[in-house]
Amino acid sequence: MEVVRKDIKNLHLGVYPPSGRVRVAVPLHISDEAVRLAVITRLSWIRRKRAVFRQQERQSAREMVTGESHYYLGQRYRINVIEADGPGRVKLRNRTTMDVFVRPGTNAQQREKVLQRWYRERLKALIPPLLEKWQAVIGVEVADWGVKRMKTKWGSCNIVARRVWLNLELVKKPAICLEYILVHEMVHLLERHHNERFREYMDQFMPQWRLHRDELNRTPRAHDEWGY
Ligand SMILES: [Zn+2]
Repeated sequence: MEVVRKDIKNLHLGVYPPSGRVRVAVPLHISDEAVRLAVITRLSWIRRKRAVFRQQERQSAREMVTGESHYYLGQRYRINVIEADGPGRVKLRNRTTMDVFVRPGTNAQQREKVLQRWYRERLKALIPPLLEKWQAVIGVEVADWGVKRMKTKWGSCNIVARRVWLNLELVKKPAICLEYILVHEMVHLLERHHNERFREYMDQFMPQWRLHRDELNRTPRAHDEWGY
């Protein structure tokens, strides 16, 4: 692993995709022995993260052919690629099969695009009712929100603009995970940092939030490095 000494206050440990590279940023005054201990105590967390990246690597090589598995709201679907004229579209046939309609002769990348567009539409449709519900509960107002692909975060919140971003990948997770990330980002409008006060708000609004966090952490993109 890479150890970098810097003029910082706290030791910071990160595991990064795609290889699962481990990097520790260490304050200047901390001894090598203390660094070693800090890493050892987080070893199982590091292993878990690395396992997840390995799995993500395997997951990312998609061919978009019939029989392949793709996820939607925590449910695994077998895709069924159907060549047809007209714009590409996706339709859930039942609880296990997802029909992906594409123009004849499309390649994997184009098929992937059809699915991604559908994912984005679905996720965008899920968010407004959740926002409405949680704005009333938490007592904050989100001025703007959007969906985008993010490599390292499940969501983010610009406190000044009161703008929330959600990771498109959330559409593949159980709906409660999306709700948890949304609540987390909205709580940042009450408390910027991941501190005790932040956790108290989370406990108050969503007592089971740790379960949802763990569910998300079983999969690649943690909301942030410590998985709050
Ligand atoms: Zn956060």
